Amino acid sequence: MKTQNGFTLLETEKEFKEWLDKQYPTRKITRLQVHHMGLPDYSTWNNTDKRVYGDNRELGRTKSLDSYGKATWNSPDGHGHYIAQHFNIFPNGKITTGRNLNSTPIGIAGWNTNAICVEIYGNFDKGQDIMTKEQKKAVIFVYALLAEKFGIPKTSTYIRPHAWFTSGGTCLWNYYPGKSRKSCPGTNFMGFGNTRKAFENNFYPLLKAYKYESNNLANTDKTQYVRILQDVNIRSAADFTDASVIGVVKKGGVYTVVEKIERTGTDMYKLKSGVYITASPKYVEVFEK
Ligand SMILES: [Zn+2]
Repeated sequence: MKTQNGFTLLETEKEFKEWLDKQYPTRKITRLQVHHMGLPDYSTWNNTDKRVYGDNRELGRTKSLDSYGKATWNSPDGHGHYIAQHFNIFPNGKITTGRNLNSTPIGIAGWNTNAICVEIYGNFDKGQDIMTKEQKKAVIFVYALLAEKFGIPKTSTYIRPHAWFTSGGTCLWNYYPGKSRKSCPGTNFMGFGNTRKAFENNFYPLLKAYKYESNNLANTDKTQYVRILQDVNIRSAADFTDASVIGVVKKGGVYTVVEKIERTGTDMYKLKSGVYITASPKYVEVFEK
């Protein structure tokens, strides 16, 4: 995490979540806008931005977008910024803050009130940039965590791409080339595109399936331990087959947990020694210190 010119660089999912947890905007927030930048695109990122900003590409470009906003629409956010959007998501999966969360964005005519505007760096029209997996992951956690923070349902009523709107601000509920103002966030956005069907079948399900690093305990600062409540089998694999049983741990034992394995049915813990046990609260209890 690093702050420069009033913009904060959030380098990981954990940094983004922890920063967001500390924000308490008083403006009503009920909508999330989905945009790509178009320009700058990946070529700008790999050439111009690298040359001009070196290892400070995210904050360097954010400042430049702010200057562009000041010169172009000159609509201040009341906190010294002019950038249209609240967040920028870069090709390397890092994020910068933009406009103050208490300020209405300049993202979609007719759908800015109560909205948060997120701009994804790149041009995701067919034949243009292919989103990196780091950026894809960041797109999912940024939208999912924003939705959860503000209690916004992960549906088309509340989360919409720019491409569904006309220049006049009418929502067409789909991308119609020629009628829609733009193709933003791109006709090949995340590999599925900008249509209603693409969002219904892919984007919202990805956000709904998201869980904050629930299987990565490295994201918590404290070490997690498991206390054995009843004798349980230890296993060589994260399953409950007879073949995976390699021994038993006795009631009262305490072990360090390194990972929670999400399974259909009963979840499992991976212990520091590399073995697996049930995560059923009937048999084990977890605590931190
Ligand atoms: Zn847009």
